[in-house]
Amino acid sequence: SSLVQLQSIGKIFPNGVTALRDTSFAVGDGEFVSLLGPSGCGKSTALRIIAGLIAPSNGDVVWRAGAAPKGSSGEIGFVFQEPTLMPWASAAGNVYLPMKLAGVDKSAAMPRIREALTRVGLEAFEHAYPRELSGGMRMRVSIARALVTQPKLLLMDEPFAALDEITRFRLNNDLLHLWAAMRQTVIFVTHSVFESVYLSSRILVMTQRPGRIFADIPIDAPYPRD
Ligand code: ADP
Ligand code: ADP
Repeated sequence: SSLVQLQSIGKIFPNGVTALRDTSFAVGDGEFVSLLGPSGCGKSTALRIIAGLIAPSNGDVVWRAGAAPKGSSGEIGFVFQEPTLMPWASAAGNVYLPMKLAGVDKSAAMPRIREALTRVGLEAFEHAYPRELSGGMRMRVSIARALVTQPKLLLMDEPFAALDEITRFRLNNDLLHLWAAMRQTVIFVTHSVFESVYLSSRILVMTQRPGRIFADIPIDAPYPRD
């Protein structure tokens, strides 16, 4: 069965903008699904509805029995375009945040924090502060923070859009390795055709406003490139 299913989701914002209309799709375990479409077609809105950050105006988000997020995160990791790190906390302190919110104390959380930092190649930087890290490294911390609770679903909203092309390419490659190793279910919002083809096992193409799924394209299972 699907991990999560959007059933005829509509979203009309209070200002009258229709961001989504009759949007339906399902995501299965271990899939890496890209939501691809031009700016303003409703990709972020769909992601925020799945995360429960905003409510749909119509339709339902249906989770597999037992998989629905229970209020305070944990089951869902979210990576935004801006890494939104706390400047006063080290890389480890930032990655700790979701576990802190879950009531785990830091010494108990440290093995998981180190594992998450290692997965993104930052094992040597646990004590570094965000200002000491490059943009790409800050994004890696943000990914580690989203993974530290081992969420069932990782949502990424144009995570690499603000990075330079070289850093972005490296992060794409590392994300592919990470996905191959973890078999983490991912929904990845992008307006880059390259990223969607390079990373995904499936591409959902969205049309310009109001957002609808225009095509659902399976891609040969991607494999990490060396
Ligand atoms: P995308 O992620 O594809 O760029 P968004 O989901 O951010 O698209 O936005 C879809 C449409 O909804 C856009 O026209 C955007 O301006 C509008 N929109 C997004 N968030 C809000 C909001 N909070 N209030 C009003 N309109 C919004
Ligand atoms: P992106 O498309 O890169 O996801 P946007 O520029 O569409 O980002 O939106 C950035 C933020 O501004 C979001 O939090 C969104 O909810 C809000 N927003 C976007 N469009 C509007 C709008 N027309 N009215 C109010 N808030 C908006």
